[in-house]
Amino acid sequence: PEPRLEKLYQDVILDHNRNPRNYKVLENPTQYSHGVNPLCGDDYHLYLKVDGQGKIEDIGFQGSGCAISKSSASLMTQFIKGKPVEEAEKIKKYFLEVLTKETVSQEAKESIGRLILLEGVKEFPVRVKCATLIWHALGDALNDTKGGKS
Ligand code: ZN
Repeated sequence: PEPRLEKLYQDVILDHNRNPRNYKVLENPTQYSHGVNPLCGDDYHLYLKVDGQGKIEDIGFQGSGCAISKSSASLMTQFIKGKPVEEAEKIKKYFLEVLTKETVSQEAKESIGRLILLEGVKEFPVRVKCATLIWHALGDALNDTKGGKS
């Protein structure tokens, strides 16, 4: 990436690592999942509250891990909060495409907004699992039919 983008990427990662958004446990989640990346030691709990219209009313995560995993989780929750479940599923798919595929569609790049900043992680293949962990957890949570009880 260009030097300016790289600097922005680092600033955003550091900011979200230091001050993660939606870093909380939800009292009455409708969906829950637990994501672990043993390679790095990243370990997060993800809570979702989906309303009757299928909109993600609230979202929270808690846990520990490296700066990449934590900032990715923070950015994800910020971006997903308030969106319908189907849209969240689509964004997840596009984000994973951007981070894991060699050729990425323009549609995917345009659909993930400022999350595109995390594309820089691709240059460090071992960290890709850190950046994608919370997104896999999001997929699990969206498919959690136990009503947040596990
Ligand atoms: Zn990590």
